Amino acid sequence: MTTFVRCGSLFTGRENSALRNGTLVVGDDGLIAYAGPAAQAPAPRPHDKAVDYSGLFVMPGLIDVHTHLAYGNAKSEEDIDLYQPLEFRALRALFFAQQVVAAGFTSICAPGDAGRISLSVRNAIQAGLFDGPRITAAGRYITARQSLTDWYPTWIGVPETSIGRLVTNRDEAIEEIRCQVKDGVDCIKIALDGTHRRGNGEFVAAFTQDETTAMVEEIRRLGKKSVVHARGREATLYAARAGVDLIFHAYYLDDECLDALVKSGSAIGPTLTFPRNMIEFTGPHDPAHLKGRIGDVRREFEVACTNLKRARTAGVPMMIGTDSGFAVTPYGEWHARELEIFVQDLGFTPAEALRAATEVSARFMAQEGKIGSLAEGCYADFIAIEGSPLDNIAILQDKRRIRHVHINGAEMRIPPRPYDSYKVTDLALFNWTDLYTQERVAELRARTAPSIAAQ
Ligand SMILES: [Zn+2]
Repeated sequence: MTTFVRCGSLFTGRENSALRNGTLVVGDDGLIAYAGPAAQAPAPRPHDKAVDYSGLFVMPGLIDVHTHLAYGNAKSEEDIDLYQPLEFRALRALFFAQQVVAAGFTSICAPGDAGRISLSVRNAIQAGLFDGPRITAAGRYITARQSLTDWYPTWIGVPETSIGRLVTNRDEAIEEIRCQVKDGVDCIKIALDGTHRRGNGEFVAAFTQDETTAMVEEIRRLGKKSVVHARGREATLYAARAGVDLIFHAYYLDDECLDALVKSGSAIGPTLTFPRNMIEFTGPHDPAHLKGRIGDVRREFEVACTNLKRARTAGVPMMIGTDSGFAVTPYGEWHARELEIFVQDLGFTPAEALRAATEVSARFMAQEGKIGSLAEGCYADFIAIEGSPLDNIAILQDKRRIRHVHINGAEMRIPPRPYDSYKVTDLALFNWTDLYTQERVAELRARTAPSIAAQ
């Protein structure tokens, strides 16, 4: 049965404007047979189905290239690595993957997760066992001693249930890449920096240029895509020179990085939602605040916006990602915030932000060429929204306005479902954020006393 969808506005992802009175024709194979003006659409036959979205804005399903399915809305690194068994993490990942769909995101990349969680969730959805988004899955991050994910001291090391796989030489890295490819990942994540800085504050790349190039070449030889965590200048430069497909963050890129990026065609996924949420949402009682980290994040955010704007002007493709999966970026809540940040802080027009979240981000995904656009032959992954995100990009964050979500033509119905977040994550043995000396207690009592007296 063919479905004819009447669209009030139709944004195909291939132009910077929406078409008034469009029609989308979806075949029973879940593929788009026609997307364009209603006047030129083929005529429906008697048994065809009609769907009326004539009051709504129809566009391709949104894509988040940076959602960690296995993190479980973690409040700490220990939460990510230690306390829940991999089996429980897979079950909760499936639940959270559906919450992402309810927010209008029909495809995600899970770039770095413990065990084989993301690819198992992907396979269960692909087999038709559950509704869920299309998932481009990575395995564990390939990590060195100076990498993000090797956050514990050497005498503890990197546990088996961690999101990282510590490699101590090039051969181990290549062997890990081959294992992950055999297990069925779509992409390989390398933690190219993250924990160590030089005296001048500069991030140290965790691998040498030669090691980076060797890993990226092997990933490419095996037909997979490469994605790296690189906040600093040096790791960004090594990644660009090696021709990495997607670089997360790249906050401290300079002219040399920019030249290499333009030459390699590497994309950047700035992932500014995570620091932005951290700046805005962290409360005075939160450890991140008490440890004085928020000022640093704020400074880094400003530097990042300046540098990323230059990358955009130079033509570096920019993809939408949020680092969802932390307590400050819970699943299904803030994915569309990255589009608003692209408009507010990186100078994108709303249409350009929509394209970043659709056809541009689709270039990294396993279904490249089949998603991110509403065009003949593409999968019918689309959403229908109340209001126009071209007028106000922020409306995409209002889940009540995401009226319908279709994947492969089929409408997803994900009812809201409350759950006990403390049974899902937050099992670290951390109880207090302050040191209750007599002096500190006296100070706190003096601070609360006036309000008690005032009651
Ligand atoms: Zn991440």
